[in-house]
This record gives sequence, structure tokens and C-alpha cells, in this order.
Amino acid sequence: MPPHGPLYGYVASSSSEALLHGLATARRVLPAACVYASDQAHYSVGRACELLRMELVTVASLPEGAMDAEDLRLRVRQRRPAGGSIVVATCGTTMRGAVDDIVALRAAAETAGTVHMHVDAAGGGLVAAHASPQPHWSFAYGADSVNISGHKILGLPVPAGISLVRRDLLPETAAGKYIAAADHTLACSRSALASLLLWARLRSLGRTGMAALISRCQEVAAYAVGRLEKAGAGPGHVPGTLTVTFARPPPGWWTSGIWRAPGSWPAWSRSDMSPTRR
Ligand SMILES: *Cc1c(COP(=O)(O)O)cnc(C)c1O
Repeated sequence: MPPHGPLYGYVASSSSEALLHGLATARRVLPAACVYASDQAHYSVGRACELLRMELVTVASLPEGAMDAEDLRLRVRQRRPAGGSIVVATCGTTMRGAVDDIVALRAAAETAGTVHMHVDAAGGGLVAAHASPQPHWSFAYGADSVNISGHKILGLPVPAGISLVRRDLLPETAAGKYIAAADHTLACSRSALASLLLWARLRSLGRTGMAALISRCQEVAAYAVGRLEKAGAGPGHVPGTLTVTFARPPPGWWTSGIWRAPGSWPAWSRSDMSPTRR
């Protein structure tokens, strides 16, 4: 991260810490604001709000899993927040992989004042970055802070999160002056191993390798949709994402056979997905 660029970032212990860092930054700027997140948001959002003693308002989601901008508009209006609003959008919801549209959400929340837009991109940020067309999820679309996980699509063997915040939202004086550090992190001491593994993984993939990994996963997801459709399992899939849902199998199904899945996640391929009975 360039030391004087428009963004500040660090490698955190996990996305939950990075999310806490984003919300703590938001609270510094808008101390009286409520936090708005959808009913599909990860449970770490609720935990962060509890720790930071911020009030969390749950917003309804649309059938495919993205936050309902109209419901956000209504809830923000109901509260008439003098102190602004902090919206936690999710890029890649845990259950469906849905991506909240931060341009639409900001427009909805700004009808009632200043907005801080945090994007929980733990699972979906790196996928969204390579999707076409690009969903509205990043700083380019108006995010103020973002968290991404290092151990999900990148598959790091240790947990890691990335916290990115707009530098102009940080306090003017950083901690750690006595060791000549400009420390705005939440954790203070951090894992050099996680940073090194993250660097090595990104460096070995490169931009083209990363794009190829994502497109291979998208192909596998599309293939799974086709197979599940043929099997009458009612698959659900948000285009561009890697999540495929399907109807719950009949009772007893799980105990009467197994799914063959050799190799380790995330390296499954088409041939790994054929069900076998033992
Ligand atoms: C996994 C996940 C988290 C939590 O990430 P950790 O790195 O495990 O702390 C938060 N939000 C979403 C959407 C996630 O998928």
C-alpha cells in the first residue's frame, strides 16, 4: 500500500477484525449513526456492533439475497438520523453469494443525510473484481471502507483479512509514534506469516492467474447449475458468483450414500462432482 495514497490498509487476523476496523473508523466519523445491514449479512456484523456498542438495524433482502434499497430508504427515513447512517453492504453473501449494489444503497440512505458505506467483501470481493459486468462493490463505486478474506478464494492455510479504509477518514495522529510507526491498525502486533503467504499467493497467481482461477470457478458453478437442473434439484445461482444452492435432499439421502469429492477445496473440478454410492 503506498504510504500516502488515498487508501490505508493492513493485513488483519481475519475479515471479522478488518470489519471491526472499518466500523470503528465509521463510528469515529459518524459517532451517533446507526448501522444498517441486511438480514443476509454475516454474523460478524452483529458481533462488531455489539462490541462497538452501535445500534444495528436489519434491512430486508430481495429474493436473490441482495439488500433491498427501498427497505433501506424506508428504515433510514423512519429513524430520521441526525447523525448520518453507516451501511454495511455485503459483496458475496454467505448463503447465496449475492452482491449488494452500493450505488443504489448509498442513494437510498443519502435521502436522510451523510452515509458511511462499508463493504463486507470477505467472500466475494476478489470474485466481483473479476466479474463481467463489474458489480457496484468497491471504492470506485463509492465505498468508504472494505474488508476481504485471504483464506477463502485464495485458500491461504492460515486465516487472514485485509482492511482497506479511506485514508482521509483516519485520525490525524497515528499510534506508535515512539517506534516511528504510523499505526492505525486495530491489532497492533500482526502475523508476518499471513502477510508473506498472501503476498506469495498473489504473486504466484498474478493478475491473469487470478482471473483464470475465478473464471474456472464460475464455469464449475455454471456446470453444477446444469447438472442440478437435470437432476430436478432446483438450483439457485446469482450470475457471476460462485455459489450454487439446491433443494434439500429427501430425508435419509445423506446417510445412504456419499458425494465423491477428491482433492481439496478450492480445487474441485467438474469430474469431482459426480455422486457415487458406496
Ligand atoms: C467469512 C465471512 C466473514 C468472516 O470472515 P473471517 O475471515 O472468517 O473472520 C464475514 N463476512 C462474510 C460475508 C464472510 O463470508
